[in-house]
Amino acid sequence: MKLPVVVVHGGATVFDDKYHDAILKAVSKASEKGMCALEKGGSALDAVEAAIWVLEETNLFTAGLGACKNLDGEIELDAIIMDGNRLESGAVMAVRDIVHPISLARYVLERTSNSQIVGSGANKLYEQMLAEGYREETSSKRTQGPLIAQNCDTIGAIAIDETGRIASAASTSGWPGKLPGRVGDSPVVGAGVYANDIAGASCTGKGEQILRITMGRMAVFHVEQGLSVQQAAEIVMSELRQKTSGEAGLILADKLGNLAIQFDTPHMPVAVLSRDMENVYYSMKPVWLVD
Ligand code: ASP
Repeated sequence: MKLPVVVVHGGATVFDDKYHDAILKAVSKASEKGMCALEKGGSALDAVEAAIWVLEETNLFTAGLGACKNLDGEIELDAIIMDGNRLESGAVMAVRDIVHPISLARYVLERTSNSQIVGSGANKLYEQMLAEGYREETSSKRTQGPLIAQNCDTIGAIAIDETGRIASAASTSGWPGKLPGRVGDSPVVGAGVYANDIAGASCTGKGEQILRITMGRMAVFHVEQGLSVQQAAEIVMSELRQKTSGEAGLILADKLGNLAIQFDTPHMPVAVLSRDMENVYYSMKPVWLVD
C-alpha cells in the first residue's frame, strides 16, 4: 500500500450480527478521520489520536463512552500512544470515568517527562490538561454502559505518514467486572502496543495472556529481524496460542505500509485507508481473508 496508511481495529471478539453495520461504519469513520489528520499536515500521532477519538466517542466498544464497569461498579480506563521514531510513549492506566483517555495519554507523552501515569494521578493530570487548554472536554455525557459489549473490545490504530514515521495506539476499559485497579496489556508498552522506526503493532485480547509474551514488541522484533509483517504476525499469534492458550488479534504495519491483520476470534472489525485506496476497505474480517 502506498503511504500514508491508517489502520484501525475495534477488538478481537464476537459482535452480534445486528451491530455489524454500525461497527463497520465506526471503524471506517475512524480511519477517515485519521487520514484527514495526515492530509492536513498532521503527524502519525495526530492520526492515531484522531482515529481512536472517534471510536471512544461511540458507545459501541468497551472504551471511551462505551466503557464497562469494574467489580465495584466504577469505570477505569487505559490508553497508550507511541511515537515509533522517537521511541517514546505516553500511557494512562485506571484513569476514572473520562471519555478520551487517548488524549490524556498524548498529553503524558508530549507534556510530561514521564511515560505512564495511573489512577488518581492520571485524573489530576486530566484536570491540568483541560486547564491548559491542551484538549477540550468532550460534550458527550455517559448515560449508560456499553451498548453492545458482552466481553471486551479494545480499540487500536496504527498510522504511517508519507515519510514512513509510525505511530500506534490503543484505548480500553478492559474486561467487564475486572478487579478495581486491574491493568491489562493495552496501555503497557511492548505488550498491547509498540512502535519503532521499522514497524508498529496494536494488539487486542486477554491482557493477562498478551502480557506474558510481550506480543507487540515481539511482533515488531520479528520484522526487524527480516520477516514480513504477515510472517511476524502469524508467529506471535501462534506463540500466544501455544504458550498461553490465548485468543487475540493484532494489526502490524511496517514503515513501507505493508500490513498484516491476524485474529483467531470470530470477529475483528478493521478499516484500512491508504493513498492508493480511494475507498475504505473494511469488514468484520479483513477483505483479503473473506471467503
Ligand atoms: N487487552 C484488553 C485487556 O485485557 C482487552 C481487549 O483487547 O479486548 O484489557
